Amino acid sequence: MGNRDFSAIKAILFDKDGTLLRYDESWGPVNREAARIAAAGDAVLEPALLCAGGMDEASGHTRADSLFAAGSAADIARGLVAAGSPLDAVDLTQKLDALFLRSAEYSVPAADLAGYFGRLKARGLKLGVASSDNEAAIRATAERFDFAGYLDFVAGYDSGHGVKPEPGMLLAFARAVGVEPAEVAMVGDNKHDMHVGQSAGSGLNVAVLTGTGTTETLSPLADIVLGDITLIEDLLP
Ligand SMILES: [Mg+2]
Repeated sequence: MGNRDFSAIKAILFDKDGTLLRYDESWGPVNREAARIAAAGDAVLEPALLCAGGMDEASGHTRADSLFAAGSAADIARGLVAAGSPLDAVDLTQKLDALFLRSAEYSVPAADLAGYFGRLKARGLKLGVASSDNEAAIRATAERFDFAGYLDFVAGYDSGHGVKPEPGMLLAFARAVGVEPAEVAMVGDNKHDMHVGQSAGSGLNVAVLTGTGTTETLSPLADIVLGDITLIEDLLP
């Protein structure tokens, strides 16, 4: 950790789950349903799959950088098949994508997102969302919380810019809004978000604690660790 200087930052790229949305409140019930679908009626297998995905059944907490925390629907499907799901990975991917899209309506925001994005936009910042979820689910979240009109860019795993922790989503965002990668701040709750920023040459990597990551897992990779996204406003020039 070190650099907290936003003076050169012209654009901010946000992760969605655990960053714009509180992870455990939003995704705990969804992960349980994902394990139920993957278990295909096998009541013994279901808790084993939940555990393999990275969620502790008793506490409802999902482990940092686990499949559920960081994987795309395809990653999660492959992992659950490897852990014993009898479904075909392609079929399970489609079922999980549909589940994740439906789940947008139950998600819990980390802040008043419409007000937050509106204030950032009023400062002249370019704004984007990059998620391992599918693009339609990201847009559904932006519509539901009324900040779609403030976004300059959206990338899901299926948008054609590669997947995290590759740099493609951040590089495509920078190109789309006409800034250098070094003028972009990457904000996320997982190590893979910090790796996106590092591999793309972002100006700042900001970690938040509304997701599955902890100060211990994130501080070695982040320039700044904050409780939630609203604290970024205090650091803006
Ligand atoms: Mg996240």
